[in-house]
Amino acid sequence: MALLCWKCSVLPDRTASLKFFQSFCVVDSSLRILWVGGDWDDFARSNGGVSALSNTILSTRLTAHIADRATADRVSQMVQAVLETRRPLHLDYRCDAPHQVRRFRLTIQPMKHGRAVMVHQLLDAVQVDPPMVAWRYDPLARSQKCSVCGAVLVDQTWLDPTLPEFEHPSRVGYTTCPTCDARIAAALRELVETVAETEFAEVVALQDRDQTR
Ligand SMILES: [Zn+2]
Repeated sequence: MALLCWKCSVLPDRTASLKFFQSFCVVDSSLRILWVGGDWDDFARSNGGVSALSNTILSTRLTAHIADRATADRVSQMVQAVLETRRPLHLDYRCDAPHQVRRFRLTIQPMKHGRAVMVHQLLDAVQVDPPMVAWRYDPLARSQKCSVCGAVLVDQTWLDPTLPEFEHPSRVGYTTCPTCDARIAAALRELVETVAETEFAEVVALQDRDQTR
């Protein structure tokens, strides 16, 4: 979700007002962007992300704006699962700036006509002092950063970059870490199980109704 808050590409360098940050994105079953709203354009402009303004990205595919394949696949899986089960899905994620740890919640909600709305809501923003080394996306970078939790892979261990003495690499490639893969897999499983339980309860209710007739 590079564009869609997943990689901070449209997030501005603001503090207090960030507490009200909320953006919306409606996609169809092919992940085509039908509408964006909320604080979207304000944040795109204030961050210099003119290419991410709503009138530029409408009708393009959501995954075209996600830098790495792993994240694009996870987003696609989550949206498809919501559309198939007709149940909402929630996923908390980090979208930090060098000076700020930011926690967001993504909610994907089913809509009519095979569409889904993705809501990104800022939960919390905490200053980092001293700030982390600024980083930017580089597909050729040796360092990998998780696009969901912000952890960085160091010597085969995923570390939170706000740990003391940790020096954030200045160039990173994006992916999803095993912990976040497991969280997303669990969220997808829960959707399917909730549907199965609901359907089972409906069958039992129908049987009870028939028996009382
Ligand atoms: Zn992660």
